[in-house]
Order: sequence, then structure tokens, then C-alpha cells
Amino acid sequence: MRKITQVLNVPFDAVTMKEAVARVKVLMNGEGQHFICTPNPEIVMDAQKDKELMSILREADMVVPDGIGVVWASKYSSIRLKERVAGYDLTQNLFNEFAGTDKTFYFFGGAPGVAADAARKMRHKYPGLKIVGLHNGYFDGKEEKKIIHDIKNLSPSILLVGLGAPKQEKWIYDNMRLLGAKVSIGVGGSFDVMAGNVKRAPRPFQKLGLEWFYRLITQPTRWRRMMRLPIFAFTVLKTRKRR
Ligand code: UDP
Repeated sequence: MRKITQVLNVPFDAVTMKEAVARVKVLMNGEGQHFICTPNPEIVMDAQKDKELMSILREADMVVPDGIGVVWASKYSSIRLKERVAGYDLTQNLFNEFAGTDKTFYFFGGAPGVAADAARKMRHKYPGLKIVGLHNGYFDGKEEKKIIHDIKNLSPSILLVGLGAPKQEKWIYDNMRLLGAKVSIGVGGSFDVMAGNVKRAPRPFQKLGLEWFYRLITQPTRWRRMMRLPIFAFTVLKTRKRR
């Protein structure tokens, strides 16, 4: 049974990283295809206006909080989220769990060359990791058919899709049944981090819940997007029901 808490109508699973990995295992070994979303506050705000995105998030098989803002907001909901389960960290834990097993990955997304660099680095970091295919995230209609065909042929256990939100969530939702991947996960810019092109915040920033601040000072071009953070906090406080 899923333990769910709603943050501005987006249903988040109250799981630790360890429980999230365990749930991926269950989904992977079950019937059919499944998908996982990793929204941060910006995506939660987008979903307030984008009905299609909201309904996709509400149908996902697991939704984990990519941003500390979401964990904070859950204190005003019925169940408190246990910890931040960032998309990037989830991928690393899955690589660690499945390296050396028969479980396979496909990397889809990022600028040309990025998924390939990411795959090379991850194979080195997690010996025995099976990345069976990859493709960059810039494609036209004809190319897209080929990508879908390629993924279907390879039928990976886990498909990581890094096209940015909400494009990746919509792409997974529209194509999931054609792909043959057991579990698809929207991972945003994770391939850029794996490839070493974008740095995660140092651990102390992450521990203090200040990764957003680090991103703001190191990638100032994101400031406009990040203006949505205070709007998110304001909206949560406006609609709060204190426990
Ligand atoms: N991207 C892509 N195809 C597109 C648009 C974006 O593959 O058509 C990739 C882009 O190269 C980057 C990622 O999607 O690797 C978006 O990264 P960002 O950090 O903006 O992710 P978000 O914060 O939206 O999750």
C-alpha cells in the first residue's frame, strides 16, 4: 500500500531513498510498464496550470520529492515526507543496486554526446552496470520513431528520460506502452551531472537543504525559474492545513 501525501494536489510517496529503491524493484518485477516522477517545487507549480501534467503526476506509480521545498511543504499535509529523494540520487542508488545483475538501463536525453559521456562515467563508477543503449534528447518526428523502436528492441529494465520537465513526463506517458521498458523515470538534467558538465552542490549545502541556493549562485541564468520557489512557498502557506 502506498503512503501518499498531497502537496498542492500532487501526490507524493512518503518513502526514504531505501524504500524508493525497494519500490522500483517491486515495479520492475511486476506486470506491465510503470513510471516514476521526481518533481521539484517548480514542477508542482507548473502542474497547477498544466492539467495534462497534473493528471500524469496523479497517475504515476511513484512520485518522489526532488526538492527540499516539497519536503518542507509536506509538514502542512496529513503525512510528512521522510526525506528528499532527488532524481539524480535515485539513479545513483539504482545503479549501485543493479550493477552486476541482469537488470539493464537505457539513457535517453541531454545534448548530443552527454548521454554517452554519462554512460562511460557511470560504467566506470559502477562496474558491471549494464547500459544497453542511449540517445540524445534532441530529435524530430522521424528520429523519434527510431528511438522508440530502439528502446523497444532493447526492452531495458529501467529507462531514464532526461528531456527536462514537463516534456519528459509527457513523453513517457504518451509512449510508455510502446517502449517495453519495465520502469521509466523522468530525471531532468541528471545526465549533465553524470557526465560531469554540471556539478551538484557540495554535501554541506545538500544536507542543509540549500542546494537550490547553490544552483542560484552557480547558474544565475536559472534565476527566473527559481523565482517560482517563493511563489511555491507562498501558495503552500496560503492553502495550509496545519496538523
Ligand atoms: N533536454 C533534452 N531535450 C530537449 C530539451 C532539454 O534532452 O528537447 C535536456 C537538456 O539537455 C538537459 C535536460 O533536458 O540535459 C534539462 O535539464 P534541467 O536541469 O533544465 O532539468 P529540469 O530542471 O527541467 O528537471
